[in-house]
Amino acid sequence: MSVPVTKNDEVMVDIVGLTHEGEGVGRADGFTLFIQGALPGERVRAKVLKVKKTYGYAKMMELVVASPDRVEAPCGIFKQCGGCQLQHLSYSGQLGWKRQHVVDNLERIGKLRVAGAVDSMDGEQNEEQGIVVHPTIGMDEPWRYRNKASVPIGTVVDAPSAGSGSGKERLIGGFYAHGSHRIIDMEACLIQHSDNDDIIGTVKSIARELGVSAYNEETGRGLLRHVMVRVGFVTGEAMVVLITNGQRIPQVERWIERIREAFPSVKSIVQNVNTRKTNVIFGDETRVLWGSEVIYDELDEIRFAISARSFYQVNPLQTVELYRKAVEYAGLTGSETVIDAYCGIGTISLFLARRAGRVYGVEIVPEAIEDAGRNAALNGIGNASFEAGAAEIVIPRWRKEGIVPDVIVVDPPRKGCDEALLETILAMKPERVVYVSCNPSTLARDLRVLEDGGYRTVEVQPVDMFPHTVHIESVCLLIYKGFE
Ligand code: SAH
Repeated sequence: MSVPVTKNDEVMVDIVGLTHEGEGVGRADGFTLFIQGALPGERVRAKVLKVKKTYGYAKMMELVVASPDRVEAPCGIFKQCGGCQLQHLSYSGQLGWKRQHVVDNLERIGKLRVAGAVDSMDGEQNEEQGIVVHPTIGMDEPWRYRNKASVPIGTVVDAPSAGSGSGKERLIGGFYAHGSHRIIDMEACLIQHSDNDDIIGTVKSIARELGVSAYNEETGRGLLRHVMVRVGFVTGEAMVVLITNGQRIPQVERWIERIREAFPSVKSIVQNVNTRKTNVIFGDETRVLWGSEVIYDELDEIRFAISARSFYQVNPLQTVELYRKAVEYAGLTGSETVIDAYCGIGTISLFLARRAGRVYGVEIVPEAIEDAGRNAALNGIGNASFEAGAAEIVIPRWRKEGIVPDVIVVDPPRKGCDEALLETILAMKPERVVYVSCNPSTLARDLRVLEDGGYRTVEVQPVDMFPHTVHIESVCLLIYKGFE
């Protein structure tokens, strides 16, 4: 096919879709152009930036026909920041797109059949009708939903004032400008709990007052690399983590005192040392500078201890929705044996344990497993046990030891389930598999494997855990055909 556009051309483009990264997918003379900020149904005048063999990138110059779903992004830094991608799309538009994205992945990657009109379903559905993909469960108030913030620290050089020579370096912290590692200072992030914004703002001003140096990615010098804050939505307790390039924090006592004075809700101040030249935020060494090693939070009246390095879902309100759905799909009556693979600090495991006979959780991070055990005890839950290790190694061993699950719940990271784990599931043949996924493409791939092994995907519930971003969470119910 010949390429009908060249660099710097200005073309009229009709937008027909959105990529999984939130860019508009346009067609100009049948040629595909990706255009940041354009929405499906729109017509834009765009300037071609880059042309490859079968597609290109263009910049929106003028919005000729706007989508009825287009809204003004409420955040002033939306265009510079890479954090949110969909603020220009109405919230109902986002929810619709997220469901459709799940459907597209199931069909294209999983080669699965999705039922047509969801509304005509009366709950009872059969194989011929295909998988029911429910409308995305959204939030009533889709702002300030995040419990965790992590900001990179750097410097800017202010413009020199009249009469003085060169500009002065100032410590800043915020976000990386879209597609780069340039840090832009930030005072408020509309998807963060406001305590997180306030605490980070104060930590930055303390750092400036005490003359603490900011880490420089290029030279590898400077002390403060990142500030992480996590707040329990139910308890209000907060943890501050200072990630430093070196052991010693000058005037650390004053630092602690200032944070405590300003925020009595801070129950834990932690240092993590990372001296490596890497993008990875955390180093291996974590120590408590003041207060407790953990903070507490509650989900649906279960209490959780959360340490600095543990995975804990970032949107607690929607997490409860997600976990309730997972428990519903598990179909528990009180006697079942359940395996929770990729269990983190045991959150889903403890939701399940309230309704099951016995729950076994497995997770690769040993600190998270320590938290999981502590969390079970904290809630007086005696029918859940936890083991640290890779799910694909531990579960086959459980099988040899004679554990026979009725339900296996998996909640893997973005790359999906390990093949060996899927094989083990097919060998163990639990009646139900509940698959919680943060990545529709690996979900679709794994569902295909389970379908080929004798499971039927019955229904899928997308849950919006990350409003205004392109991230999509879903929970799926699979039933082994022998049990139907
Ligand atoms: N279910 C938990 C955690 C989900 S995140 C919750 O909802 O909070 C996925 C988890 O899988 C992380 O805690 C990660 O550490 C863990 N993990 C990654 N690879 C793993 C593996 N091969 N085996 C077991 N756990 C793994």
